[in-house]
Order: sequence, then structure tokens, then C-alpha cells
Amino acid sequence: MKETIYTIPINEAFEAQCGCPLCTLRRKLEQDSVEYIMGAAMMEPDVRIETNRRGFCGKHYAQMLGMKGRLSLALTLESRLGEIRNYIEKEAVRGFGKKLDAARAAELIRGTANGCFVCERIAGYEEHYYKNILHMWKNIPEFRALFEQQPYFCLEHTAGLLAHAPEVLGKRGFEEFDRILIEIVDRYLKTLNEDVSAFCQSFDYRSAGKPLGEAQKIAPERAIEFLSGYKEPEKNA
Ligand SMILES: [Zn+2]
Ligand SMILES: [Zn+2]
Repeated sequence: MKETIYTIPINEAFEAQCGCPLCTLRRKLEQDSVEYIMGAAMMEPDVRIETNRRGFCGKHYAQMLGMKGRLSLALTLESRLGEIRNYIEKEAVRGFGKKLDAARAAELIRGTANGCFVCERIAGYEEHYYKNILHMWKNIPEFRALFEQQPYFCLEHTAGLLAHAPEVLGKRGFEEFDRILIEIVDRYLKTLNEDVSAFCQSFDYRSAGKPLGEAQKIAPERAIEFLSGYKEPEKNA
């Protein structure tokens, strides 16, 4: 299988073996996307039209707030607000003026508020990642071994892999893939559940003085990462 623009980052994320490899890929995409929006995209009218139209979700606005370049952010917000004003004044007000169609008005306004340029860009990339990972698993024995060495896959990415597997692997391949993936997830889930229990028990006076292991001390953070993919940004990043 020839190397594509997807197989190189996939190999890197799987070799890193730090948490869910698809979350590792997603964080890299988020970082690249946000840097792009705050940098080069400012000069690209086509991208500006798209970001004005779709806006960003809270998580990705927060990432931009955490970066240098308040002016870039403010310029993005200025044109986004202008776009929404234009839309509200032309579409929604006109709609309200004729006959109040609350459902239609809500749909129009929700449509402008719920989008996220970064989330949609990531979703597009992840489609390719899922399919490439499954092709690599099917065709490259070394990658299959690397797949089995992963510490875990988070819930969302486990579901994504399973959803795409029958299409790439066929029924037989899918069954084997499903078994291997679920074994990895189940093994981690068991350890994680025990570590969270140990964390809870450490608050009981009967456990006083019993030290927690390093992984148990951060069991709530690890559980949140597994359940939702959320990981607190590195303090000095
Ligand atoms: Zn993940
Ligand atoms: Zn987003």
C-alpha cells in the first residue's frame, strides 16, 4: 500500500502510543486548524467566507483565545458578527415581520449558531483516517501488530472505526477486527474502572495513608478522556 498524506500521520500517532491514537490525530488537526485560522487563512478570502458562515464552537473559540494574536481573533469575530447581523436583519426580521414562523426562525438562527469550521474540517479528515486505518490494518502486518499495542481507543473513535469497518473489511474481516478492537477497549475499561474506584475509595477514612499510584491519581482525567476525548491542554503549551 503506497504512502498517502494520511498514512504518515497515522503511523506517527500509532507509534506514539499515548492514549487513543485517533485523539492524538485530532489534537494535531485542531492545533493546525486553529493556527491556520489565526494565520494564513486571514489572507484567503474563500476561507474567510466559510469561517464567517459557519463560525466556531466554544471549544475552538477557547483554543483561539488561548493563542497569541488577539487582533486576528477579533477580525474573525468582527466579520462573523457582521455576517450574522446581515442574516438576522435580512432573513429573520423579514420572516418575523410577515407571519411569525417560530420553528423556521429557530432553525435559521440555530443554523448560524451551531456550526464550527474546525469541527467540520476535522470530521472530513477523520473519515479518511478511519478508512486508511482499516486499509492499513487489512494490508500491513506490522501495522496490525502496532494496532494491537495501542493503550486504548476512546468511545467515539471506537464507534467510528466499527462503523466504517464492514465497508472496508467485508463481513469476515470485520468480525476479526471487531474482536481485536473490543478486546483492547474492554481491557482498558476494566483498568480504568478499577482506578476510578481506587480514587473514590482514597477519600474514605478507612483508606487513609494508602497511597494511590500515579495513574490512579489522574483517574478522573483519564476517564473523561476515554468517555469524551477531552484532555486538558498542557500547562506550558
Ligand atoms: Zn479518540
Ligand atoms: Zn469546533
